[in-house]
Amino acid sequence: MIIKPKVRGFICTTAHPDGCRAIVKEQIDYIKSQPHANGPKKVLVIGASMGYGLASRITAAYSFGAATLGVIFDKPASGARTASSGWYNTAAFESFAHEDGLYAKTVNGDAYSQEIKDKVISIIKNDLGKVDMVVYSLAAPRRTMADGTTYTSVLKTVGEPYTNKTIDLKNRVVSNITVEPATEDEIAATVKVMGGEDWKAWIDALKEADAIESDAVTVAYSYIGPDITHPMYADGSIGKAKDDLFAASKQITADGIKAYISVNKALVTQSSAAIPIVPLYISILYKVMKAHGVHEGCIEQMYRLMNQKLYCGDPVVDSENRIRLDDLEMQDEIQSEVNGLWSTITSENLDTHADLEGYYEDFYRLFGFGAKGIDYDAETDPEVTIDL
Ligand code: NAD
Repeated sequence: MIIKPKVRGFICTTAHPDGCRAIVKEQIDYIKSQPHANGPKKVLVIGASMGYGLASRITAAYSFGAATLGVIFDKPASGARTASSGWYNTAAFESFAHEDGLYAKTVNGDAYSQEIKDKVISIIKNDLGKVDMVVYSLAAPRRTMADGTTYTSVLKTVGEPYTNKTIDLKNRVVSNITVEPATEDEIAATVKVMGGEDWKAWIDALKEADAIESDAVTVAYSYIGPDITHPMYADGSIGKAKDDLFAASKQITADGIKAYISVNKALVTQSSAAIPIVPLYISILYKVMKAHGVHEGCIEQMYRLMNQKLYCGDPVVDSENRIRLDDLEMQDEIQSEVNGLWSTITSENLDTHADLEGYYEDFYRLFGFGAKGIDYDAETDPEVTIDL
């Protein structure tokens, strides 16, 4: 079939296998081109098919030569539907890793479930013995518990409604949006889905099965951002979940495995595209960071995390023991320029105030569109297999 993007709201329902493959290759080539530290050798990545998790997997494999086991929740192609981009990314990563003589296996299923934890542990025991790093990079809209109860996360404020600018990306219109506060139940559900309970459950399960080294490191990702996004993010329902993730890092560490929160940069991913207000902030941030020559994508961030923050002697952390990959984003000169543009941005001056093209480019690339050297008018076979 000829595969073109079909965008509905903030997701694209198609993905391009050759484009995803080319974009995974670009990330691998970036890591290959960089000097590397001495890092872990057997790495479990939970949420490994897109965004920060995929970049973590690529970095571990190609900076350190690590064996990687990925947990993904993706769909193969079926009938007229393409596979999800995470499926194509994973198929591509595995084929490159195997060509390069690296162990790479993937488990496709719900990371929250005991069944998938058991399956992963049995693969670790059979193939790797023990892992020495666990990356927890899930971004999920819901979580179903063993008893069938499903919790759904929300992206709302806590306490008061919040009004600020947002962008309708389809029509390129800037307007005001009011985000309503979450109910107590919604906050609790968001914490269930995106908080630290499942991260800790994974580490406990690995410990119980003797499938994790005692000096292993585990990392999960968070975001803080500037004041304009705080009511929506850091102080909102997702922020409550991130507080819980941070608390879990302390508990996991107290229980014997060193756990870190890495505070990452705001980037276009399938998850961040869904948050009101944040995409407009991201498109202004891209403009400013690119102008200052300090823009990074997921792969540059994960390269720095592993090679310059985590595995370079003592981890480089802030006063609260968090790794700060948002250091460049939060620089005063970057934030004051972003603020100036934010206060004056309208639909009319979008092109001078924001990098909308950069935003769209990254958005389409999430689904394999816009990669160099791919003929998007060519017949393409959507069926791609992963050796699960
Ligand atoms: P993403 O949507 O690109 O990736 C999420 C991954 O989780 C995908 O591989 C998806 O398949 C997987 N996943 C979702 N539900 C799953 C399930 N039930 N079982 C197994 N796998 C599942 O998201 P991302 O933006 O890379 O986010 C990863 C983490 O980074 C999140 O904790 C997020 O809050 C954090 N973070 C993101 C940003 C940002 O701007 N994007 C910034 C800082 C921190």
